[in-house]
Amino acid sequence: MKVYYEVLKLNTTSRFQLLDITGDVENTVKRSSIRNGIVVVHAPHATASIIVNEHEPGLLEDILEKVKEFTEPGSSKWRHNRIDDNAHAHIGSALFGSTRIFPVVNGRVVRGTWQNIFFLEMDGPRSVREITVLVMGE
Ligand code: ZN
Repeated sequence: MKVYYEVLKLNTTSRFQLLDITGDVENTVKRSSIRNGIVVVHAPHATASIIVNEHEPGLLEDILEKVKEFTEPGSSKWRHNRIDDNAHAHIGSALFGSTRIFPVVNGRVVRGTWQNIFFLEMDGPRSVREITVLVMGE
């Protein structure tokens, strides 16, 4: 079995933001030369997530609006806000998850037509955010 990985680096420009990383993940899989196996997409951050869904501008706004509504940034009820101002982002990251796994079959990432891969920023802007993309297989 072969293992290959790359660390993608990106910067975010808003507190809440969705960045489409589908092309980056697919290019990493291509460069790995692994034909069959899995690809792990992992954001090593406690205030961001990796999510999968359709890249339609209205929907992306809908998702961000719901994330804000759900995580309640700035709420005085969040105890973590006494020492830091980002409890909402930690809660979002904990619940939405920082890792997604996809099958790789015949050199392609298996995903539906309406399944793009996004980095979900919840505590930006940040000058450097990293995403580890690890491909395992043969
Ligand atoms: Zn914090």
